[in-house]
Amino acid sequence: MSLPQPHWLLKRLRSVWRRWSLWGLLVALVGAMLVTLVWLAGRYEASVVQGQLERDATDAVTDIRAALARNLLTLQSLHALQAGPGDTPRWESRAAAVLRERRELVRIEWRTPALRLQAHADSPFHAIAWTSDARTEPHSDTALACANARRFSGPAYSSSYFQPHGDGLGSELIELCLPPAAADRNAGYLVATYSLQGILSEMVDHGLTRRQEVSFTEADGTRLALVGTARRSAHMFSARQLLDLPGHTMVLRLDHWHTAPSLFPNVLTALVTAMSIALVTVLVVLVRDNRRRLKAERELGDAFAFRKAMEDSLVTGLRARDLQGRITYVNPAFCEMVGFSAEELLGQSTHAPYWPPELAEEYWQRQAVRLADNALPREGFESVFMRKDGTRFPVLIIEAPLINAVGQHTGWMSAFIDISEQRRVEELSRASQERLQATARLATVGEMASLLSHELNQPLAAISSYATGSLNLLDLARDADEAHLRAGLDEVRTAIGRIAQQAERAGRVIKSVHDFVRRRDQAREAVPAQELLGDVLPLVNLQARKLGVRVQVDVETGLPLVHCDRVMVEQVLLNLARNAMQAMDDPSITERTLEIRVRRAASNAHSAWLEFSLADGGIGISEEAARNLFTPFFTTRTEGMGLGLSMCRTVVEQHGGFLGHKPRQPRGTVFTFTLPAAPQEGND
Ligand code: ADP
Repeated sequence: MSLPQPHWLLKRLRSVWRRWSLWGLLVALVGAMLVTLVWLAGRYEASVVQGQLERDATDAVTDIRAALARNLLTLQSLHALQAGPGDTPRWESRAAAVLRERRELVRIEWRTPALRLQAHADSPFHAIAWTSDARTEPHSDTALACANARRFSGPAYSSSYFQPHGDGLGSELIELCLPPAAADRNAGYLVATYSLQGILSEMVDHGLTRRQEVSFTEADGTRLALVGTARRSAHMFSARQLLDLPGHTMVLRLDHWHTAPSLFPNVLTALVTAMSIALVTVLVVLVRDNRRRLKAERELGDAFAFRKAMEDSLVTGLRARDLQGRITYVNPAFCEMVGFSAEELLGQSTHAPYWPPELAEEYWQRQAVRLADNALPREGFESVFMRKDGTRFPVLIIEAPLINAVGQHTGWMSAFIDISEQRRVEELSRASQERLQATARLATVGEMASLLSHELNQPLAAISSYATGSLNLLDLARDADEAHLRAGLDEVRTAIGRIAQQAERAGRVIKSVHDFVRRRDQAREAVPAQELLGDVLPLVNLQARKLGVRVQVDVETGLPLVHCDRVMVEQVLLNLARNAMQAMDDPSITERTLEIRVRRAASNAHSAWLEFSLADGGIGISEEAARNLFTPFFTTRTEGMGLGLSMCRTVVEQHGGFLGHKPRQPRGTVFTFTLPAAPQEGND
């Protein structure tokens, strides 16, 4: 086991742990913040509610105090009526009026200085069954209150006490005792009985009692009277306020139940929570987006590196230009091709440094026209560029418009291929082709050598016999008389004439071979078809005679001239004729005719074509042979080289023509090829 593996694993684990722990920390922090916020918001709301409650309690106490003070004034005016027993009816009616007005008052009594009941009035709103003896004798609390009042020389309240009703219920009551003024001892006391319940329901603002419970309690929390029914829930707030009255102090208590759900105590908390959740969501989305962006960046980087590697490894030169023709980009292959650095090329707009000076003006105009037209040929075109060292080289340029991401045309992109090597190869192949053709010609010549010797034999034998005859005649002439001499001279002249004829014939034979073999520069000329045939026929006839073949030539009249390389086309004709005759060199074939025809081929308005055909009645071409017919060195003959047909096709195709063959009925083959006619002017 190798060491690096666990080490790598450990590193990876550590980085994963670090990432997850950071995430965990972040989530914990956000969670803690959220909980704290909720708690603080809850606390805040509780304090707001509590504060409000405290204020309400203070208000309630203030209200009660103010109402009691108001009542006190009324009662004092009633107290002022207590002068003597004669005032009783008036007092009673006033007291009844006060009781009707002030519902919290249960009873008003006029008591003598000795606290005996002088007169009294009961509230019509409270059904309290007072036991008469209980009220005629001063109540202990009343006595205490009046004692206090006398001591203070002012109103004093008693402590509260429970007064049962007849129906089993009861009320908590409190007494107010007004002492007689020091100057008027007979006035007696005025004792007013308050119902605590009445105080709460009449003196405390109804708005308060609707929202919360308001009660008087004792110091130990025992409720004495209660108003308001708040909806109860788990959260109770309460506030206490002391209501200290002269002679007695009571506790006012407000209870409030908070009804909002405890998790979201108010809208603020809910808002903060929602925002925190939104924050976390945004954070997660941001992180995800960031991760996606990082991934895209990485992919972009990879794609860029891939593109860069591709550009750098390209052998095709690339160049981009903007709409003004300024070079905006060149790849290393282009720089290498022209020998200039990218810095030297970028930004160049007028005459590029790789334009040969003698062609620069032409290129400039060509570029201006192209850029103005906005239409570039999609196919490549050839041009000549100059390297930094001044050497020229041919390039193939392919241009295309540059369209940016929003579909806007921003310039041009061109690809350059240095075709000097291609040219060199083409030149080499042309040279080797020529050499091949020469070889093929020489092969033909070699083949013909035997025919030549045979053919030359005839004129030479004839020359020799004519020469011998002439010499004999000259010998005879030495002894002959004048008449015989003249006749002899005529015969000698005839013989020498024949000798000259035969020598000329031999010369023609040799010349035709010489003409054929002579290597000439490829040159196209306008030649009548008849002349082409005339040049090869002597050679064709040589073989024809040997093989017993009849040669028929049929040339359509009024044909245009043929635009061709004369020597090469003659060789094609000779080759095809030779192949045709060889195909008929079979003992089974008795009818041996070679038909050579020239006629006008299908033509159009721009070009005219001539069709040459050579038809034989030979053995024909098998399917197998047809497949390889034009392959160099394919032959079925023992002495054949197999170069003839491939050479023929090359020559015909070099002229833009087509060479083909088809079987002939009943037997044999027809070879056909086409050649271009020379332009009409200058023709017959
Ligand atoms: P070569 O004449 O040296 O054999 P060619 O390329 O001229 O080479 O011909 C290749 C072969 O094509 C010949 O060997 C022959 O079999 C076949 N051939 C060519 N012309 C004819 C024809 N007119 N009829 C039948 N066979 C032919």
